Amino acid sequence: MTLSSDPRSSHLLAGAQPGGSSLPAASPERLPALSINHTRLADRLEQLGRIGRQPSGAIRRLAFSPEDLQARGLVQGWMEEAGLEVRIDAAGNLIGRLAGRSPQRGCLATGSHIDTVPSGGLYDGALGVMGGLEVAQTLQEAGVQLDHPLEVIVFADEENTMVGCKSMVGRAPAEAEAYRTTIGEPIATCLERIGGDWQQRSSAQRRPEDLACFLELHVEQGGVLEAVGKQIGVVEGVVGQQRYTITVDGQANHAGTTPMGMRRDALTTAAQLVLAIEDMARHFPGDPVATVGKLQVWPNAANIVPGRVEMTLDMRDLSHDVIDHMRAHLQRKIENIAVASRTRIALEPQFVVDPTPAAAAVQEVIVQSCEALGYSHTHLPSRASHDAQEMGRLTLMGMVFVPSRDGVSHSAQEFTSPQQCAAGVQVLLDSLLRLDRQLA
Ligand SMILES: [Zn+2]
Repeated sequence: MTLSSDPRSSHLLAGAQPGGSSLPAASPERLPALSINHTRLADRLEQLGRIGRQPSGAIRRLAFSPEDLQARGLVQGWMEEAGLEVRIDAAGNLIGRLAGRSPQRGCLATGSHIDTVPSGGLYDGALGVMGGLEVAQTLQEAGVQLDHPLEVIVFADEENTMVGCKSMVGRAPAEAEAYRTTIGEPIATCLERIGGDWQQRSSAQRRPEDLACFLELHVEQGGVLEAVGKQIGVVEGVVGQQRYTITVDGQANHAGTTPMGMRRDALTTAAQLVLAIEDMARHFPGDPVATVGKLQVWPNAANIVPGRVEMTLDMRDLSHDVIDHMRAHLQRKIENIAVASRTRIALEPQFVVDPTPAAAAVQEVIVQSCEALGYSHTHLPSRASHDAQEMGRLTLMGMVFVPSRDGVSHSAQEFTSPQQCAAGVQVLLDSLLRLDRQLA
Protein backbone atom coordinates (compact mmCIF):
# COMPACT_ATOMS: atom_id res chain seq x y z
CA MET A 1 0.00 0.00 0.00
CA THR A 2 1.47 3.33 -1.00
CA LEU A 3 0.11 6.81 -0.92
CA SER A 4 1.08 9.42 -3.45
CA SER A 5 2.43 11.61 -0.68
CA ASP A 6 2.65 11.52 3.07
CA PRO A 7 -0.25 13.67 4.21
CA ARG A 8 1.37 14.11 7.60
CA SER A 9 4.15 16.34 6.31
CA SER A 10 1.84 18.75 4.53
CA HIS A 11 -0.48 18.74 7.52
CA LEU A 12 2.27 19.77 9.88
CA LEU A 13 3.78 22.30 7.53
CA ALA A 14 0.41 23.85 6.99
CA GLY A 15 0.07 24.25 10.77
CA ALA A 16 -3.63 23.44 10.69
CA GLN A 17 -3.98 24.43 14.33
CA PRO A 18 -3.43 27.95 15.65
CA GLY A 19 -0.23 29.53 14.44
CA GLY A 20 1.88 27.29 12.26
CA SER A 21 3.94 30.15 10.89
CA SER A 22 7.40 31.09 12.05
CA LEU A 23 7.92 33.58 14.82
CA PRO A 24 10.05 36.66 14.27
CA ALA A 25 13.74 36.07 14.99
CA ALA A 26 14.75 36.44 18.63
CA SER A 27 16.14 39.75 19.68
CA PRO A 28 19.94 39.66 19.62
CA GLU A 29 19.93 40.69 23.28
CA ARG A 30 21.13 37.76 25.37
CA LEU A 31 18.71 35.69 27.40
CA PRO A 32 19.32 35.82 31.16
CA ALA A 33 21.57 32.90 32.16
CA LEU A 34 19.43 31.10 34.72
CA SER A 35 19.95 27.70 36.27
CA ILE A 36 17.15 25.79 37.89
CA ASN A 37 17.64 24.29 41.34
CA HIS A 38 18.25 20.55 40.67
CA THR A 39 18.13 19.55 44.32
CA ARG A 40 14.84 21.30 44.99
CA LEU A 41 13.29 19.76 41.88
CA ALA A 42 14.31 16.22 42.84
CA ASP A 43 13.30 16.77 46.44
CA ARG A 44 9.83 18.04 45.54
CA LEU A 45 9.22 15.20 43.10
CA GLU A 46 10.09 12.80 45.87
CA GLN A 47 7.88 14.60 48.42
CA LEU A 48 4.93 14.60 46.04
CA GLY A 49 5.56 10.94 45.27
CA ARG A 50 5.11 10.02 48.93
CA ILE A 51 1.43 10.96 48.65
CA GLY A 52 -0.47 7.86 47.58
CA ARG A 53 2.58 5.59 47.49
CA GLN A 54 1.61 1.92 47.79
CA PRO A 55 3.71 -0.87 49.32
CA SER A 56 4.48 -1.98 45.74
CA GLY A 57 6.08 1.42 45.09
CA ALA A 58 3.29 2.38 42.69
CA ILE A 59 1.49 5.67 43.29
CA ARG A 60 -2.27 5.77 43.64
CA ARG A 61 -3.42 9.36 43.57
CA LEU A 62 -6.79 9.20 41.86
CA ALA A 63 -8.35 12.50 40.84
CA PHE A 64 -10.60 13.91 43.60
CA SER A 65 -9.41 11.34 46.17
CA PRO A 66 -8.05 12.40 49.58
CA GLU A 67 -4.54 11.82 48.18
CA ASP A 68 -5.22 14.12 45.22
CA LEU A 69 -6.46 16.79 47.63
CA GLN A 70 -3.41 16.43 49.82
CA ALA A 71 -1.10 16.70 46.81
CA ARG A 72 -2.91 19.76 45.50
CA GLY A 73 -2.55 21.39 48.91
CA LEU A 74 1.19 20.69 48.90
CA VAL A 75 1.62 22.14 45.40
CA GLN A 76 -0.48 25.18 46.26
CA GLY A 77 1.82 25.84 49.22
CA TRP A 78 4.86 25.63 46.94
CA MET A 79 3.20 28.00 44.46
CA GLU A 80 2.65 30.53 47.23
CA GLU A 81 6.22 30.07 48.46
CA ALA A 82 7.40 30.85 44.92
CA GLY A 83 5.41 34.09 44.98
CA LEU A 84 2.68 33.00 42.56
CA GLU A 85 -0.83 34.34 42.86
CA VAL A 86 -2.98 31.24 43.25
CA ARG A 87 -6.56 30.57 42.23
CA ILE A 88 -8.73 27.55 41.50
CA ASP A 89 -11.06 27.87 38.53
CA ALA A 90 -14.56 26.40 38.39
CA ALA A 91 -13.27 23.28 36.61
CA GLY A 92 -10.91 22.59 39.50
CA ASN A 93 -7.71 23.68 37.77
CA LEU A 94 -5.15 24.98 40.25
CA ILE A 95 -3.46 28.00 38.68
CA GLY A 96 -0.46 29.96 39.91
CA ARG A 97 0.31 33.22 38.14
CA LEU A 98 3.25 35.59 37.97
CA ALA A 99 2.55 39.08 36.67
CA GLY A 100 4.34 40.18 33.50
CA ARG A 101 5.72 43.58 32.57
CA SER A 102 2.97 43.84 29.94
CA PRO A 103 -0.18 42.79 31.80
CA GLN A 104 -2.33 43.18 28.67
CA ARG A 105 -0.53 40.29 27.00
CA GLY A 106 -1.85 36.75 26.97
CA CYS A 107 0.11 34.58 29.39
CA LEU A 108 2.77 31.99 28.71
CA ALA A 109 1.26 28.87 30.29
CA THR A 110 2.88 25.66 31.40
CA GLY A 111 1.90 22.77 33.66
CA SER A 112 0.46 19.28 33.65
CA HIS A 113 -1.34 17.08 36.19
CA ILE A 114 -0.68 15.41 39.54
CA ASP A 115 -3.49 12.82 39.53
CA THR A 116 -2.39 9.30 38.61
CA VAL A 117 -3.84 6.09 37.23
CA PRO A 118 -4.71 3.51 39.96
CA SER A 119 -1.19 2.15 39.87
CA GLY A 120 0.94 4.98 38.53
CA GLY A 121 4.49 6.24 38.73
CA LEU A 122 6.38 9.21 40.14
CA TYR A 123 6.91 11.25 36.98
CA ASP A 124 3.84 11.13 34.73
CA GLY A 125 2.31 14.58 35.07
CA ALA A 126 4.18 15.42 38.28
CA LEU A 127 7.33 16.37 36.37
CA GLY A 128 5.46 18.93 34.25
CA VAL A 129 3.95 20.56 37.32
CA MET A 130 7.17 20.52 39.35
CA GLY A 131 9.01 21.78 36.26
CA GLY A 132 6.66 24.73 35.79
CA LEU A 133 6.89 25.57 39.46
CA GLU A 134 10.69 25.37 39.37
CA VAL A 135 10.79 27.70 36.35
CA ALA A 136 8.59 30.25 38.15
CA GLN A 137 10.60 30.06 41.36
CA THR A 138 13.92 30.35 39.48
CA LEU A 139 12.67 33.50 37.74
CA GLN A 140 11.45 34.96 41.02
CA GLU A 141 14.68 34.24 42.86
CA ALA A 142 16.71 35.80 40.05
CA GLY A 143 14.45 38.86 40.03
CA VAL A 144 13.62 38.30 36.36
CA GLN A 145 10.19 39.48 35.33
CA LEU A 146 8.94 38.26 31.97
CA ASP A 147 7.17 40.51 29.55
CA HIS A 148 4.19 38.11 29.48
CA PRO A 149 2.41 36.91 32.59
CA LEU A 150 3.37 33.30 33.39
CA GLU A 151 0.88 30.67 34.56
CA VAL A 152 1.66 27.29 36.08
CA ILE A 153 -1.40 25.07 35.80
CA VAL A 154 -2.30 21.85 37.62
CA PHE A 155 -5.09 20.45 35.44
CA ALA A 156 -7.95 18.60 37.14
CA ASP A 157 -8.32 14.86 36.43
CA GLU A 158 -6.07 14.39 33.41
CA GLU A 159 -5.99 10.63 33.69
CA ASN A 160 -9.69 10.08 33.26
CA THR A 161 -12.29 12.75 32.42
CA MET A 162 -9.84 15.54 31.44
CA VAL A 163 -12.46 17.87 32.89
CA GLY A 164 -9.82 20.51 33.68
CA CYS A 165 -8.19 21.00 30.28
CA LYS A 166 -11.38 20.38 28.34
CA SER A 167 -13.28 23.01 30.33
CA MET A 168 -10.46 25.45 29.81
CA VAL A 169 -10.80 25.17 26.03
CA GLY A 170 -14.60 24.93 26.09
CA ARG A 171 -14.81 21.30 24.93
CA ALA A 172 -16.06 19.58 28.09
CA PRO A 173 -19.30 17.58 27.82
CA ALA A 174 -22.32 19.46 29.21
CA GLU A 175 -24.09 16.54 30.91
CA ALA A 176 -22.86 15.40 34.32
CA GLU A 177 -23.65 11.79 33.30
CA ALA A 178 -20.93 11.97 30.64
CA TYR A 179 -18.27 12.00 33.37
CA ARG A 180 -17.36 8.68 34.94
CA THR A 181 -14.89 9.59 37.66
CA THR A 182 -12.40 6.96 38.79
CA ILE A 183 -13.55 7.32 42.39
CA GLY A 184 -17.14 6.73 41.26
CA GLU A 185 -18.67 9.94 42.58
CA PRO A 186 -20.65 12.52 40.59
CA ILE A 187 -18.52 15.12 38.86
CA ALA A 188 -20.30 17.99 40.64
CA THR A 189 -19.38 16.57 44.06
CA CYS A 190 -15.83 15.94 42.88
CA LEU A 191 -15.32 19.45 41.55
CA GLU A 192 -16.72 21.01 44.69
CA ARG A 193 -14.29 18.98 46.77
CA ILE A 194 -11.25 20.42 45.00
CA GLY A 195 -12.53 24.00 45.00
CA GLY A 196 -14.34 24.00 41.64
CA ASP A 197 -17.99 24.65 40.89
CA TRP A 198 -19.96 22.49 38.45
CA GLN A 199 -22.65 25.11 37.88
CA GLN A 200 -20.08 27.76 37.03
CA ARG A 201 -17.73 25.53 35.04
CA SER A 202 -18.12 27.51 31.81
CA SER A 203 -16.28 30.35 33.57
CA ALA A 204 -13.12 28.19 33.40
CA GLN A 205 -13.04 28.62 29.63
CA ARG A 206 -10.22 30.84 28.43
CA ARG A 207 -10.25 33.03 25.35
CA PRO A 208 -7.50 32.57 22.76
CA GLU A 209 -6.18 36.03 23.65
CA ASP A 210 -5.78 35.00 27.31
CA LEU A 211 -2.95 32.66 26.37
CA ALA A 212 0.10 33.37 24.23
CA CYS A 213 1.14 29.71 24.26
CA PHE A 214 1.07 26.49 26.27
CA LEU A 215 4.22 24.44 26.80
CA GLU A 216 4.10 21.13 28.68
CA LEU A 217 7.04 19.11 29.96
CA HIS A 218 6.26 15.40 30.30
CA VAL A 219 8.00 12.04 30.44
CA GLU A 220 7.89 10.27 27.10
CA GLN A 221 6.04 7.15 28.36
CA GLY A 222 7.56 5.30 25.41
CA GLY A 223 11.01 4.04 24.51
CA VAL A 224 11.96 6.13 21.48
CA LEU A 225 14.31 8.66 23.17
CA GLU A 226 16.16 5.91 24.98
CA ALA A 227 16.43 3.81 21.83
CA VAL A 228 17.90 6.66 19.76
CA GLY A 229 20.02 7.95 22.67
CA LYS A 230 18.62 11.52 22.76
CA GLN A 231 18.10 13.65 25.86
CA ILE A 232 15.13 15.73 24.74
CA GLY A 233 12.09 14.97 22.60
CA VAL A 234 10.60 17.82 20.60
CA VAL A 235 6.99 16.75 20.24
CA GLU A 236 5.48 17.19 16.77
CA GLY A 237 1.94 16.86 18.08
CA VAL A 238 -0.40 14.58 19.94
CA VAL A 239 -1.73 11.85 17.70
CA GLY A 240 -5.37 11.55 16.77
CA GLN A 241 -7.27 8.40 17.46
CA GLN A 242 -10.13 6.46 15.88
CA ARG A 243 -11.77 3.64 17.78
CA TYR A 244 -14.00 1.01 16.16
CA THR A 245 -15.85 -2.14 17.08
CA ILE A 246 -15.48 -4.95 14.54
CA THR A 247 -18.12 -7.67 14.63
CA VAL A 248 -17.67 -10.96 12.80
CA ASP A 249 -20.78 -13.09 12.36
CA GLY A 250 -20.27 -16.68 11.27
CA GLN A 251 -22.16 -19.80 12.26
CA ALA A 252 -21.88 -21.47 15.68
CA ASN A 253 -21.88 -25.24 15.14
CA HIS A 254 -20.78 -28.59 16.58
CA ALA A 255 -16.98 -28.83 16.83
CA GLY A 256 -17.06 -32.55 16.06
CA THR A 257 -19.60 -32.94 13.32
CA THR A 258 -18.85 -29.83 11.23
CA PRO A 259 -16.15 -30.66 8.63
CA MET A 260 -13.45 -28.02 8.16
CA GLY A 261 -14.64 -27.12 4.69
CA MET A 262 -18.19 -26.45 5.86
CA ARG A 263 -17.39 -24.08 8.69
CA ARG A 264 -18.14 -20.38 8.97
CA ASP A 265 -15.78 -19.82 11.91
CA ALA A 266 -15.96 -16.29 13.30
CA LEU A 267 -12.78 -16.67 15.36
CA THR A 268 -10.45 -17.86 12.59
CA THR A 269 -11.85 -15.01 10.49
CA ALA A 270 -11.14 -12.58 13.34
CA ALA A 271 -7.62 -13.97 13.57
CA GLN A 272 -7.05 -13.15 9.89
CA LEU A 273 -8.30 -9.65 10.56
CA VAL A 274 -6.02 -9.13 13.55
CA LEU A 275 -3.00 -10.09 11.46
CA ALA A 276 -4.18 -7.99 8.51
CA ILE A 277 -4.49 -4.96 10.81
CA GLU A 278 -1.01 -5.46 12.22
CA ASP A 279 0.45 -5.89 8.74
CA MET A 280 -1.34 -2.78 7.51
CA ALA A 281 -0.04 -0.53 10.33
CA ARG A 282 3.50 -1.89 9.97
CA HIS A 283 3.67 -1.16 6.28
CA PHE A 284 1.63 2.00 6.03
CA PRO A 285 3.55 5.17 5.05
CA GLY A 286 4.36 7.35 8.05
CA ASP A 287 4.41 5.85 11.48
CA PRO A 288 0.85 4.94 12.46
CA VAL A 289 -0.15 2.37 15.07
CA ALA A 290 -3.18 0.07 15.10
CA THR A 291 -4.21 -2.27 17.89
CA VAL A 292 -6.81 -4.95 18.48
CA GLY A 293 -6.79 -5.00 22.27
CA LYS A 294 -10.05 -6.62 23.24
CA LEU A 295 -11.80 -9.62 21.82
CA GLN A 296 -14.95 -11.47 22.86
CA VAL A 297 -15.97 -14.82 21.45
CA TRP A 298 -19.44 -16.42 21.38
CA PRO A 299 -20.40 -18.87 22.59
CA ASN A 300 -16.79 -19.28 23.84
CA ALA A 301 -17.00 -23.03 24.43
CA ALA A 302 -14.41 -25.72 23.72
CA ASN A 303 -16.73 -27.90 21.63
CA ILE A 304 -18.44 -25.25 19.51
CA VAL A 305 -17.18 -23.58 16.33
CA PRO A 306 -17.23 -19.87 17.27
CA GLY A 307 -20.27 -18.12 15.81
CA ARG A 308 -19.56 -14.51 16.69
CA VAL A 309 -16.58 -12.34 17.60
CA GLU A 310 -16.56 -8.74 18.70
CA MET A 311 -13.27 -6.89 18.86
CA THR A 312 -11.94 -3.38 19.25
CA LEU A 313 -9.74 -1.55 16.77
CA ASP A 314 -7.71 1.47 17.88
CA MET A 315 -5.78 3.47 15.24
CA ARG A 316 -3.57 6.48 15.96
CA ASP A 317 -1.48 8.88 13.92
CA LEU A 318 -0.50 12.55 13.79
CA SER A 319 -2.47 12.90 10.58
CA HIS A 320 -6.19 12.47 10.34
CA ASP A 321 -5.74 11.55 6.66
CA VAL A 322 -3.42 8.65 7.45
CA ILE A 323 -6.01 7.15 9.80
CA ASP A 324 -8.74 7.68 7.21
CA HIS A 325 -6.60 5.99 4.53
CA MET A 326 -5.97 3.06 6.88
CA ARG A 327 -9.68 2.70 7.50
CA ALA A 328 -10.44 2.70 3.75
CA HIS A 329 -7.68 0.14 3.17
CA LEU A 330 -9.05 -2.03 5.97
CA GLN A 331 -12.58 -1.78 4.60
CA ARG A 332 -11.42 -3.37 1.32
CA LYS A 333 -9.52 -6.05 3.20
CA ILE A 334 -12.61 -6.81 5.28
CA GLU A 335 -14.72 -7.30 2.17
CA ASN A 336 -12.24 -9.84 0.76
CA ILE A 337 -11.91 -11.73 4.04
CA ALA A 338 -15.70 -11.84 4.53
CA VAL A 339 -16.25 -13.32 1.07
CA ALA A 340 -13.52 -15.92 1.50
CA SER A 341 -14.69 -16.96 4.99
CA ARG A 342 -18.44 -16.74 4.23
CA THR A 343 -18.92 -14.49 7.28
CA ARG A 344 -20.43 -11.04 7.79
CA ILE A 345 -18.04 -8.41 9.09
CA ALA A 346 -19.13 -4.99 10.35
CA LEU A 347 -16.87 -2.05 11.22
CA GLU A 348 -18.65 0.36 13.54
CA PRO A 349 -17.15 3.68 14.67
CA GLN A 350 -17.01 4.36 18.43
CA PHE A 351 -15.20 7.67 18.70
CA VAL A 352 -12.77 9.98 16.98
CA VAL A 353 -10.19 12.26 18.62
CA ASP A 354 -8.62 14.77 16.27
CA PRO A 355 -4.83 15.05 16.28
CA THR A 356 -3.31 18.21 17.78
CA PRO A 357 -0.20 19.35 15.94
CA ALA A 358 2.37 21.23 18.01
CA ALA A 359 2.97 24.72 16.61
CA ALA A 360 5.98 24.64 14.25
CA ALA A 361 7.23 27.87 15.81
CA VAL A 362 7.21 26.42 19.33
CA GLN A 363 9.02 23.28 18.12
CA GLU A 364 11.63 25.58 16.60
CA VAL A 365 12.08 27.39 19.93
CA ILE A 366 12.55 24.09 21.79
CA VAL A 367 15.21 23.08 19.26
CA GLN A 368 16.97 26.44 19.76
CA SER A 369 16.96 25.82 23.53
CA CYS A 370 18.38 22.31 23.15
CA GLU A 371 21.13 23.61 20.90
CA ALA A 372 21.96 26.52 23.20
CA LEU A 373 22.07 24.23 26.25
CA GLY A 374 23.94 21.42 24.48
CA TYR A 375 21.26 18.75 24.79
CA SER A 376 20.77 16.18 22.05
CA HIS A 377 17.25 16.08 20.69
CA THR A 378 14.92 14.49 18.20
CA HIS A 379 11.40 15.12 16.95
CA LEU A 380 8.70 12.59 17.75
CA PRO A 381 4.92 12.39 18.05
CA SER A 382 3.15 11.90 21.36
CA ARG A 383 1.07 8.75 21.19
CA ALA A 384 -0.54 9.29 24.59
CA SER A 385 -3.12 11.90 25.56
CA HIS A 386 -2.00 14.95 27.50
CA ASP A 387 -3.48 18.23 28.71
CA ALA A 388 -1.49 19.84 25.87
CA GLN A 389 -3.65 18.01 23.36
CA GLU A 390 -6.64 20.10 24.46
CA MET A 391 -4.70 23.30 25.11
CA GLY A 392 -3.36 23.10 21.54
CA ARG A 393 -6.90 23.62 20.27
CA LEU A 394 -6.87 27.06 21.90
CA THR A 395 -3.34 28.40 21.59
CA LEU A 396 0.17 27.73 20.25
CA MET A 397 1.15 24.43 21.84
CA GLY A 398 4.44 22.66 22.38
CA MET A 399 5.63 19.68 24.41
CA VAL A 400 9.06 18.73 25.71
CA PHE A 401 9.68 15.03 26.39
CA VAL A 402 12.39 13.46 28.53
CA PRO A 403 13.23 9.73 28.35
CA SER A 404 11.36 7.05 30.27
CA ARG A 405 13.57 4.12 31.29
CA ASP A 406 12.67 1.05 29.22
CA GLY A 407 9.72 3.05 27.88
CA VAL A 408 7.70 2.13 30.98
CA SER A 409 4.95 4.32 32.45
CA HIS A 410 1.72 4.01 34.43
CA SER A 411 3.69 1.69 36.67
CA ALA A 412 5.82 1.64 39.81
CA GLN A 413 8.76 1.04 37.47
CA GLU A 414 8.38 4.43 35.78
CA PHE A 415 11.79 6.13 36.00
CA THR A 416 13.50 9.21 34.64
CA SER A 417 16.83 10.11 36.24
CA PRO A 418 17.24 13.36 38.23
CA GLN A 419 19.65 14.58 35.52
CA GLN A 420 17.13 13.86 32.76
CA CYS A 421 14.36 15.59 34.72
CA ALA A 422 16.57 18.62 35.33
CA ALA A 423 17.51 18.79 31.64
CA GLY A 424 13.82 18.86 30.72
CA VAL A 425 13.10 21.66 33.19
CA GLN A 426 16.10 23.66 32.00
CA VAL A 427 14.80 23.36 28.42
CA LEU A 428 11.34 24.40 29.63
CA LEU A 429 12.81 27.50 31.28
CA ASP A 430 14.97 28.42 28.30
CA SER A 431 12.11 27.88 25.85
CA LEU A 432 9.75 30.05 27.90
CA LEU A 433 12.38 32.81 28.01
CA ARG A 434 12.71 32.61 24.23
CA LEU A 435 8.95 32.54 23.70
CA ASP A 436 8.64 35.59 25.97
CA ARG A 437 10.94 37.46 23.57
CA GLN A 438 9.71 36.02 20.32
CA LEU A 439 5.99 36.33 20.98
CA ALA A 440 6.35 39.92 22.18
ZN1 LIG B 1 0.44 12.48 32.06
